[in-house]
Amino acid sequence: MFLDMVRADIVIVHANQLLTMRGFSEKPKVREDLRDLGIVEDGAVAIRDEKIVAVGSTREVLSVVDRGFETIDASGKLVAPGFIDPHVHLVFARTREDELEMMIEGLSYVEIKKKTGGIMRTIEATRSASTEELLKKTARILDQALLHGTVLIEGKSGYEMTLEGEIRQLEIMKYLNKLHPVEVIPTFNPQAIPPEYEGREEQFTAEIAGKWVPEIARRNLARYCDAFCDIGFFDYKQCLKIFQSCREYGLKIKVHADWLAHSGGGKLAAELGVVSADHLIHTPMEVINEIAKLGIIGVLLPTTPFCYLGKYANAREIISRGVPVALGTDVSAINMSENMQMMMTIAALQMKMLPTETWNAATINAAHAVEEGRRLGSIEVGKQADIIIMDIPNYRYIPFHYGVNHVETVIKAGKIVVENKKLVKEHIPFYENY
Ligand SMILES: [Zn+2]
Repeated sequence: MFLDMVRADIVIVHANQLLTMRGFSEKPKVREDLRDLGIVEDGAVAIRDEKIVAVGSTREVLSVVDRGFETIDASGKLVAPGFIDPHVHLVFARTREDELEMMIEGLSYVEIKKKTGGIMRTIEATRSASTEELLKKTARILDQALLHGTVLIEGKSGYEMTLEGEIRQLEIMKYLNKLHPVEVIPTFNPQAIPPEYEGREEQFTAEIAGKWVPEIARRNLARYCDAFCDIGFFDYKQCLKIFQSCREYGLKIKVHADWLAHSGGGKLAAELGVVSADHLIHTPMEVINEIAKLGIIGVLLPTTPFCYLGKYANAREIISRGVPVALGTDVSAINMSENMQMMMTIAALQMKMLPTETWNAATINAAHAVEEGRRLGSIEVGKQADIIIMDIPNYRYIPFHYGVNHVETVIKAGKIVVENKKLVKEHIPFYENY
């Protein structure tokens, strides 16, 4: 009997609802599976070191754990896997809230860029910012994400667009990934053609493909490369050239697909069999069918219409065609919300995703969007203990009760890093009391 007992450091007990998302560590959820959260009522989770060692009802778990653990009483509360945000433009020095009026008055992304410089203003500011300033600004985004229950972020570079600058951005992410509780998976993201290359786009693309990608891969600084395939950015052929180089040098591929227009990004995603195709707003349904067949994760970004007042992805149709959907924030210099709870609300109330679908899309499927489904995204024995406790009685409160932060406790790899809605100082580099 004694030998069967499990040793634990922390046991969370009496969760009103425990959302496990179990059974999908190997592959993401599609269609009907998206409606199941693997709920355990009066649920409990036992944690030992960084891992989950027992999951079940409070009675079941307490009957198998040995004495001498810290108990967290989650009575009346919801316990869930930490959120995973698979789409963040992470390192930049200057936000562009001063574009809001133009945006609201109806100017397009391309028009605003012509008038003000748009993204170029962020690129210039980021290029001239010190590394220390960038580190602190990036850490602040990670702090906010963590306070709102996000435990892993896919972080994109792209706001310097020089080889040295992109390397600096990726190194900042690598450094913060070691120091900060929020894990950062770095992505090299050629996202703009800088002024010095205007009119020489082909040459710029050739340099990225021939020099930047091999150098970033050689330094092992990025897991993914994600290019903007859209009007005013890189076209289909240019993206293809960059991605062929990624294939050769071992960078995996994500793509900004059909955000502003049907620009061939979805098609490229299907042809190359990428890891995720993000946005999918103007992608034709026959291409969506191909994406579904290949099991490519469709990362939908609910706040996209908040910048440049565009439209939402057709989530209902995309789900019904069998695409495993995930949700992300698309944090960038023109779109600031680190809060995945907010994404779930918009996904539900504007994109018509069911509450259950938004939960799966923000946890287990989002983990698959960064190929971490085996380790993260659900509450199951053997997985990393990345768990949130929320002051809500059931899962429908997200998306229902929006605009406030419901995350009370965050456990990252077995450590309590947010307690009583506050960051636990000793774990946070560049700590600030928000
Ligand atoms: Zn984006």
